[in-house]
Amino acid sequence: MEGRASSRPFNERRAPLNEKSINISDVINLPLDTKEQKKAVDDKTPCVVDGRLKVYNPDGKNVKRLVELLKNKLSRQVVGSMVGCVHCGMCSDACHYALARPHDPTMTPAYKADQIRRIFKRHFDWTGRIVPWWVHAGTPKDDEDLNRLKNIVFGTCSGCRRCTLNCPMGVDTAVLVRLTRGILTELGIVPEGVFVVSKDSWETGNQMGVTKEDYLETLQWMEEETQAELDDPTFKIPIDKEDCDFMYTINPREVKYDPRSIGNAGKIFYCAGESWTMPSWGWDQTNFGLFSGDDKLGGYIAKNLYEAAKRLRAKRIVISECGHGYRSTRWEGYNWAKYKQDLPSESVVVTMVRYINQERIKVDPSRNPLPVTYHDSCNIARSGDLTEEPRWILKRVCADFREMHPNRSDNFCCTGGSGLLSMVEYKPLRMEVARIKAEQLTATGAKIVCTSCHNCVDGLTDVIKHYKLDIKVAQILDLVADALIIPKKNEKK
Ligand code: SF4
Ligand code: SF4
Repeated sequence: MEGRASSRPFNERRAPLNEKSINISDVINLPLDTKEQKKAVDDKTPCVVDGRLKVYNPDGKNVKRLVELLKNKLSRQVVGSMVGCVHCGMCSDACHYALARPHDPTMTPAYKADQIRRIFKRHFDWTGRIVPWWVHAGTPKDDEDLNRLKNIVFGTCSGCRRCTLNCPMGVDTAVLVRLTRGILTELGIVPEGVFVVSKDSWETGNQMGVTKEDYLETLQWMEEETQAELDDPTFKIPIDKEDCDFMYTINPREVKYDPRSIGNAGKIFYCAGESWTMPSWGWDQTNFGLFSGDDKLGGYIAKNLYEAAKRLRAKRIVISECGHGYRSTRWEGYNWAKYKQDLPSESVVVTMVRYINQERIKVDPSRNPLPVTYHDSCNIARSGDLTEEPRWILKRVCADFREMHPNRSDNFCCTGGSGLLSMVEYKPLRMEVARIKAEQLTATGAKIVCTSCHNCVDGLTDVIKHYKLDIKVAQILDLVADALIIPKKNEKK
């Protein structure tokens, strides 16, 4: 493994803090905006009317509610991270926020986690009850304090879990951040983007509010495009076909902004002679519940998908390239939905490894001649342990593959993780701390950065645009499709 998370990148050293050098980000004081919440109430949006999605209530009881909600969320894992921190500071060496803003103590992972930790200590830990001043225990005073807490947990952490790997005590700061986000979501004290995406997820079953008509029309359109490309009018994107080898699930971004990736997947499955289908409902493998901390929403979205696979009697679920979708669908969703995991699931990257390895598809690396590097998505690599398969493929479909450093589970976040792409108010800070990622990308000399995550595509595109880098973003599936040698009709199995 190269480049441990503990080593600072680019020989940067943290300067000692003194009062003059401290420079606190003004993100913490951004106001609470509830325009979208009010609109949803006025429009009588069903999920708001029936209480699945909560709206802000300024009745002065939110602090009390927060403490009650926290009590209900305490598990052994959570308490371990609440009490385990010894404030050694090692996690700061791992966090791109802390590295990019070394003079801002509010960017350290320990500071972020301490904001919920102090409430836990004040109410649920004997030390905080008896000697609160000694262990820095405390309770928010009012909704202003809760709003500041919102800005810290939503605005200054991308949930990448790089700090988790660097903590000698096993503290999972991202778990505490997500837990706090979930509580604030229950109180309606959330960024506008989080409210809107949650609402769309509840209303349409997917996080981009794609209607069933738009989804099916896009599949139809991609079917026709791929037929033309393959010169085979019999090519189909099978919808709701029963008893297939797998059900293919996608990110709604593919329908809305990148339908080419659906056509490319179809093309690869066609060349491999695969038996596959896509569901007409329950097709969104992404899950905003992972980002907002809302386990109920997470369970609802995941259950839709699991039920679709069951209904179609698919033998497997194959997940298109998305980091948080992979993590949610493959693992977390079963817990949120309290659903028995009776079907195997895999990333489409693993499916493609099998195709190439078994020579079900043939690829020509000379068709991707430009230097390519690989960005490990946090949820695919650090939280998903899928590090070698992407490289195995890229070395076969690209003529010049080169590593980014640090990499694999030590890689830095694209900066757009944990739903930050939907929270525009935090973008200036996100772009400032993206300096770390920009330097990492530049050092590779690559012309293409490949990733296995639709979210990272957008996160990296923002970084590239902001720092004016001469590099393009691609996904593994697209590079495989570009390198694919399409068999002549009579050669096809
Ligand atoms: S590395 Fe772990 S123990 Fe040390 S400050 Fe960070 S969270 Fe606390
Ligand atoms: S999860 Fe990532 S962004 Fe959040 S505090 Fe830890 S290292 Fe920083």
